[in-house]
Amino acid sequence: MRGAYDVTDEQRLRIEIKRTTLVAALALILQTAYVLDPQVRANAVLFLSALALIAFSLCYVAYTIITQNDRAVSLRMRRGACYAYWTVLALAIGIMVFFDLEHEPVQYRGVLLLYALMVYLPFHTVGQEKKIYAVLILLLVALVTIKGVGVVACLEIVGGGIAMALLSFSLHNGYFQMLRALRIEGDMDGMTKLYTKTAGISRMNGLYATCKRLNRRVAAYYIDIDHFKSYNDTYGHAEGDVVLVDVAGRIKSCFSRESDVVCRMGGEEFAALIPVADEEIARKMGKRLIRMVADMCIKSGAQARLPVVTISVGLIVTRPAKNRVDDIAEILDLADQQLYIAKSNGRNCIAMDGGIIYRGTLR
Ligand code: GH3
Ligand code: MG
Ligand code: MG
Repeated sequence: MRGAYDVTDEQRLRIEIKRTTLVAALALILQTAYVLDPQVRANAVLFLSALALIAFSLCYVAYTIITQNDRAVSLRMRRGACYAYWTVLALAIGIMVFFDLEHEPVQYRGVLLLYALMVYLPFHTVGQEKKIYAVLILLLVALVTIKGVGVVACLEIVGGGIAMALLSFSLHNGYFQMLRALRIEGDMDGMTKLYTKTAGISRMNGLYATCKRLNRRVAAYYIDIDHFKSYNDTYGHAEGDVVLVDVAGRIKSCFSRESDVVCRMGGEEFAALIPVADEEIARKMGKRLIRMVADMCIKSGAQARLPVVTISVGLIVTRPAKNRVDDIAEILDLADQQLYIAKSNGRNCIAMDGGIIYRGTLR
């Protein structure tokens, strides 16, 4: 379930603790207002449960604030406190909502607390929100039915519950999407917006494992811009950066399927791993990439032996063997060796199995 949001356990826990503190602060305010009501004070059960909740909320808020930066208090201990608070809160809310509806006219404060719960609870059980909402709304329906509240009040309460659930759902979705975007951004190379080497290799490992399971071939491309030093020397580093971004864009649009993984290995070197049906497709993709870069027609540096900016590619096509433990670093290493062959054979070409399988033509 959590996978839908792509957040780590620790991130989730920290969010839970933060949100629970907010809930406790909210409960504290609501309950303080609640006990000031003479009608509430007249009902011993209501009054005592409200007082108990105030005391627990106060303790919980104080505990989280005090232990916030205390390394001696482990995350597990804080999670324990967080769960204990939710248990007390759920109990107190149950009692209060039940007795609250006995008032004539209906007092909504208990219901409001239930709404607050609807807004915050999903953070506690990420991925389960729809079920939680269903249970809470059913609880509301059951309560208003048992208590025989009038139709209008009933619509107000249940309608409010559904509105809260929808609001909460969009809030949480937005929040987790933001978290995911931040995480992805952290994995990106700032200039080219491709994955960094570490992030790319980690994703390539995932793709490789999938292909191994499905018995599919993969193609690994090791890509390097030709005579790039000369380009920098001639036009300056800033212009060089522009070319780097442009070439990265071409690589990205060439390997644009969701399953394809492209990363910047460092400097002017890139790598791509894609699932392929056969060797021919892998070759075709490589040729297309070589053409796409040459077709940008960027005038090359003064010392370059080619008139426009080009790339060289080392290509490996392999079927991941089930009984072999091989990792992606090893495959990229083999592709890099092929790249070396492409470089020593005039550049602007693809090397595979020790020979040149395609040589780019220039217009
Ligand atoms: P080859 O065809 O053999 O690959 O020659 P090359 O000049 O491209 O290769 P070399 O390894 O000699 O030089 C790579 C150059 O890439 C040197 C460096 O200035 C440039 N480079 C690496 N990273 C960046 C970058 O982020 N921005 C810019 N503008 N240049 C970079
Ligand atoms: Mg290089
Ligand atoms: Mg180079």
